[in-house]
Amino acid sequence: MNNQKIIFSGIKPSGDLHLGNYLGAISQWVELQDKYECLFCVVNYHAITVYQTPEVLKQRTKDIVKVYLASGINSKKSTIFLQSDIFEHTELTWILNCTSARMSDLNLMTQYKEKSKNKTTNVSVGLFDYPVLMASDILLYNTDIVPVGDDQVQHVELCRDLAKRFNHDYAPTFKLPEVMIRKQGARIMSLSNPENKMSKSDDGDAGCIFLNDAPEVAKKKIMKAVTDSGSEVKYDLNEKPALSNLMTIYHLLTGESYKDIKNSYKGKGYGDFKKGLADVVVKFLTEFQKKYNAISDKEVEKVLESGATCAKVLAEETLKRVKERVGII
Ligand code: ATP
Ligand code: MG
Repeated sequence: MNNQKIIFSGIKPSGDLHLGNYLGAISQWVELQDKYECLFCVVNYHAITVYQTPEVLKQRTKDIVKVYLASGINSKKSTIFLQSDIFEHTELTWILNCTSARMSDLNLMTQYKEKSKNKTTNVSVGLFDYPVLMASDILLYNTDIVPVGDDQVQHVELCRDLAKRFNHDYAPTFKLPEVMIRKQGARIMSLSNPENKMSKSDDGDAGCIFLNDAPEVAKKKIMKAVTDSGSEVKYDLNEKPALSNLMTIYHLLTGESYKDIKNSYKGKGYGDFKKGLADVVVKFLTEFQKKYNAISDKEVEKVLESGATCAKVLAEETLKRVKERVGII
């Protein structure tokens, strides 16, 4: 490995990927590949913190690799790998559970509170412990920067705290990673309920544009998207949160500034803007799906195999150091 900074990020196969995942995370990764040493993981052990149908999980795990590749992540530049191929992730999780993670920290995690809310039974210990597994994912690779959507910022901060505590209690071992979030697109909201983020495992999919939605289905979702009062097309998060979210999608997919979008729709209403946005999304999905469909299962296997070989070297070295510090022989 050279002396470029190291980037690590991942997505869990808990549902089909959507525009939020693409705009908040993956498209940012694509831009980082030329400047950094990048590792992009499919974090399948995170997915089973809530029940997954086994056969569906297997398929989705491979599908995510196809999404990475179709989005422009280049397996020659970046290491694309599967979390379960590197047992060091779960082993380091146990060590961190015992040495650095505190119940009191994990109790504060918003994602845990949200995902366990309204569930009186079947909340797994894994769902509670998820941030420690995520910290292990990051720390194993001496990561400098973690590019994620803003819902994951709290977990990266916790990861830093765990690393600091370990370094303090044993000896300097882990690098402290920084979070990286996009200025725009770090939190794409649901089209049907703009107060909630677009999420792959939420009930009902009217508010979520999936990357594998048929273009005409996506178009209908956009035409039905909730808007705000008034009719002027302008970006204003306080006055027009729903429209601003749609404008962000438009802005990120076309590269047009908010000002230019506003000018293009001057004197027109929300309906015209939505039609324009639907065209933009249809074009994006059509091109994306064409690339996605051209990727074979064989290619996915090959990418994961060589990714695991690269990741293993780094993970092994870190875990060895950690075990040595803790006294595990
Ligand atoms: P789930 O509902 O199962 O938690 P998710 O859609 O939140 O799924 P994750 O696998 O948890 O997806 O997150 C993968 C990456 O996508 C993370 O970096 C996360 O911050 C980012 N992300 C998820 N949803 C959004 C969103 N609506 N806008 C921007 N980024 C997002
Ligand atoms: Mg999530």
